Amino acid sequence: MEGLFWLLLPVAAASGWLSARYTARRNGSAAAPDCDRPERINRHCIQGLNYLLSEQSDKAIQHFVELVDVDEDTAETHLVLGSLFRRRGEVDRAIRIHQNIIARPNLSAQQKANALLQLGIDYFKAGLFDRAENIFHQLVASGAHSDKVYRYLRDLYEREKEWEQAIAMAERYGKASGEPQATRIAHYWCELVEQSVRRRRINEAQERLRCALQTDPDCVRAYIQRGDIQVALGNAKEAIKSFRQALEKDRHFSPVVLKRLYDLFRRNGQLDRFDAWLRRNTDYHKDAAARFFMLKTADGLHDEAQVAELLHDELGREEPSLYIVRAYMEKMRDTTEGDIREAFAMLIRVLDARLSSSMACHCTRCGFESNTLFWQCPSCQNWGTVRPYQNPLEYAWLEG
Ligand SMILES: [Zn+2]
Repeated sequence: MEGLFWLLLPVAAASGWLSARYTARRNGSAAAPDCDRPERINRHCIQGLNYLLSEQSDKAIQHFVELVDVDEDTAETHLVLGSLFRRRGEVDRAIRIHQNIIARPNLSAQQKANALLQLGIDYFKAGLFDRAENIFHQLVASGAHSDKVYRYLRDLYEREKEWEQAIAMAERYGKASGEPQATRIAHYWCELVEQSVRRRRINEAQERLRCALQTDPDCVRAYIQRGDIQVALGNAKEAIKSFRQALEKDRHFSPVVLKRLYDLFRRNGQLDRFDAWLRRNTDYHKDAAARFFMLKTADGLHDEAQVAELLHDELGREEPSLYIVRAYMEKMRDTTEGDIREAFAMLIRVLDARLSSSMACHCTRCGFESNTLFWQCPSCQNWGTVRPYQNPLEYAWLEG
């Protein structure tokens, strides 16, 4: 792309002049462009190429851009150059080019709207959200580029955490483009739920949760939030129901949901019921998080026979959870002496080094990994695509 960009500059300069000349001939005008223009362009082209050859790329760019006047025939070339600058991260230059196009009086309404959209995108990419917002609203009012503009406005309000406006724009974008927005809008509602919870407005939070689930009945995050609110209100039964629904919607989130349930059963002095709950509501043969909490439950109840049985079962598995294997080694270290005890302590250190470098979550869309569960992927910006790993190796973070 870089090489192509340098090639494009002189080509753009030449094509701008050629198209101007063609238009002049087509219109029967012998006078435009002026007869000095080819010589002037040749001279400037050579000067520009000299800058390129002497690796003064900044001067070369400026030179070629100034070379071609903006008119109806060359506006497209300037728009292409502007987008290329933006893609190269040179947003200031892109802004200057797009402002220059808009300032010209001799362009069609469509060309002005195209340049205005590009200028809005420049401002958005540069983080100048107020200016971008003004431009996008101007475009909405004029009816130009409505679906693209709604998408940029949606993303802009998302960046500014103006969730209600983001919802409105996502809905308009969905209608205009036909692209489903339900998952995203439900997450926007969940963001609003978090705001309400922080301000201790529980009724408002519950109303917003209803909106999230109406928009997307499969939104795991909303069920987890509803469980958390019920825990805060002291409604254990309702909380357990919401967490169970979250698991039913997406088993991948079992490490997150089961930790909440374990804490709830333990706080209410009902740990003795949790093992049965896990066996009834999880696919624990396949779900290492469920087996991990079975072990924690047996340990919390000081049921040594059950702990020994669970550890023994885990070691017999084709793919044992390393986190449970670690628990086994701790038991062995604590019940042995001398060299054997030291050997187990050493093995635990080896395993800890491995566990500490592993990641807990990953994005199913772009592969981003982290030890924190993000509802919006920080890398690809998609909502609801980051999930806990199912691999039992990665559950060390559950202890936190
Ligand atoms: Zn991603």
